[in-house]
Amino acid sequence: MSVLAQGHLNKMQVTIASEPADQATYLLQLGGQNININALLGKTIRLEHLGEIICRHCGRGTRKSYAQGYCYPCMQRLPECDVCIMSPEKCHYAAGTCRDPSWGEQFCMQPHVVYLANSSALKVGITRVNQMPTRWLDQGASQAVPIMQVATRKLSGEVETVLKGFVADKTNWRALLKGQAGEIDLLAERDRLLQEAAETLQALLANVADSDYHWLDYMPTRISYPVNQYPEKIVSHNLDKEPVLEDQLLGIKGQYLIFSKRVINIRKYTSYLVQLSA
Ligand SMILES: [Zn+2]
Repeated sequence: MSVLAQGHLNKMQVTIASEPADQATYLLQLGGQNININALLGKTIRLEHLGEIICRHCGRGTRKSYAQGYCYPCMQRLPECDVCIMSPEKCHYAAGTCRDPSWGEQFCMQPHVVYLANSSALKVGITRVNQMPTRWLDQGASQAVPIMQVATRKLSGEVETVLKGFVADKTNWRALLKGQAGEIDLLAERDRLLQEAAETLQALLANVADSDYHWLDYMPTRISYPVNQYPEKIVSHNLDKEPVLEDQLLGIKGQYLIFSKRVINIRKYTSYLVQLSA
């Protein structure tokens, strides 16, 4: 086994390859190296946390990571760590209380889409237009289709909230890592959803300018993940409690590495100083 790279963890970069068709392809940028994670499938990998966590914003050391890679003061101060990031319908830019209005203009006052995805079950989500398909790949979705484009993050969150009322959200990360999701007819689900939600949506959109939203009609995107084998039991590895993870890599899905005995969410450990060997 030899050291491949050492550095502070970032989420893996994922793209969809044309060969093999529709396959998610993972690149980990670590300490200035670009590591093709797909190429490590089947191999025994060693990931060691060397004890240091450096805030991804200010670069100061922090004993604990907040909001996936920030120190406590940055988590309390930065707009990207605000409550409206998890709940976009709570965007308070219009109230003049955005933590950093120039950040809000760049990331929130921009065109967003509302999409349907299959990530272990039907899911409604939102993302910035230029974050497709990255968002779907990060979530481990096997199918996805954008259904509506809107002018702002807040409006996308409001539409999402309405539609969620008509979707039994059974998605969970354990199911995602237990096997391949069954096929869902996303276009049929879209039509059903828009019919059932028609009245509530109409009430919401009655107060929205026509130019601020339009419906989309796309064919769903398909994504397959490089997984040789799904584990029978899902045990999550915690780098804080056990700094060394050494196991055979069976697959990659979303931001998870699937090993023979453990799974680990790489994004959760953003900013951790690690050494990767294979
Ligand atoms: Zn910081």
